[in-house]
Amino acid sequence: MLIDSYNRVVDYIRISVTERCNFRCQYCMPEKPFSWVPKENLLTFEELFMFIKVTIDEGVKKIRITGGEPLLREDLDVFIKMIYDYAPEIDLAMTTNAYLLKSTAQKLKDAGLKRLNVSIDTLKPDVAQKIAQKDVLANVLEGVEEALAVGLKVKVNMVPMHNMNADEIVDVLEYCKARDMTVRFIEYMENRYASKEISRVPSSELLATLAQHYDFVEEGYDGASPSRYYRMSDGYKFGIIEPYGDDFCKQCNRIRLTAEGQLIPCLYFDEALSIGKAIKEGNIAGAAEVLREVVKNKPEKNRWGGEDGEVSSRAFYETGG
Ligand code: SAM
Ligand code: SF4
Repeated sequence: MLIDSYNRVVDYIRISVTERCNFRCQYCMPEKPFSWVPKENLLTFEELFMFIKVTIDEGVKKIRITGGEPLLREDLDVFIKMIYDYAPEIDLAMTTNAYLLKSTAQKLKDAGLKRLNVSIDTLKPDVAQKIAQKDVLANVLEGVEEALAVGLKVKVNMVPMHNMNADEIVDVLEYCKARDMTVRFIEYMENRYASKEISRVPSSELLATLAQHYDFVEEGYDGASPSRYYRMSDGYKFGIIEPYGDDFCKQCNRIRLTAEGQLIPCLYFDEALSIGKAIKEGNIAGAAEVLREVVKNKPEKNRWGGEDGEVSSRAFYETGG
């Protein structure tokens, strides 16, 4: 079992399989990065799987595949099947922008994927075009319908922004509610890669808007999730993620792996160690050692904004959000 220095059990790993993306979301990757990680530095699926087996053997029970856009990576279903065949009981999930989901949902489900988080920031084609800098909405919504049709459980992430999509909070909630999908509103997290004009909608404002339309009560965190949940009078639940807080740190159970093998103990913490060399040399014991070291180094609380107010130098498309 992986236990950190603050007695938290680490049993969840988020794996970014690529930093590349087919969207250019204003809050994440508004411009194509100056350079991508060279292909030879990326871990192959076989290498990633070698490390995943180590984490499962050490007690990991939940794996989320993310990116960049994970569906850009070829044969993702084969990779998912490798994990499923090794440990079918693992809670195996993926976060995606859903652009390529229509043609892949069935294969992913058959391979053993259980759950999806899909990013839907708007239901208006022109706003989607403005946020992602591409005409994406039709594909995204068709992808979601297909995922539901093949029986995948779907949650939705929305990042509300003033002068962009803040006026659609209720519409997106209603769209999700009608399909029995939980929606989670994520407060925009400042980062040095995002467009400068973005204006965060704070949770207080979100709640005030929602309170004009619904009755709801706060239910608190659901297990180790960073999302605070609210239950409406008809039973529907929505969540709000307030990354600038640190209430959720005391129950944090997760670490992150980048596509080139950087193992990160916390999203808002610059220190990371690489498992790349050990895994590429087939040194399983070495990779397990790095894993235990990273868990040991997991900070008590996120260092959001850093001690000197600096934001993390890592992009969300590298860490997988
Ligand atoms: N490409 C996939 C997607 O968009 O769902 C997976 C990767 S993306 C980095 C994962 C999540 O991070 C998405 O839900 C996205 O909305 C969120 N995200 C990215 N940048 C963010 C930011 N600056 N603030 C808040 N959430 C952000
Ligand atoms: Fe791509 Fe997801 Fe980042 Fe948007 S949020 S640019 S879809 S990685």
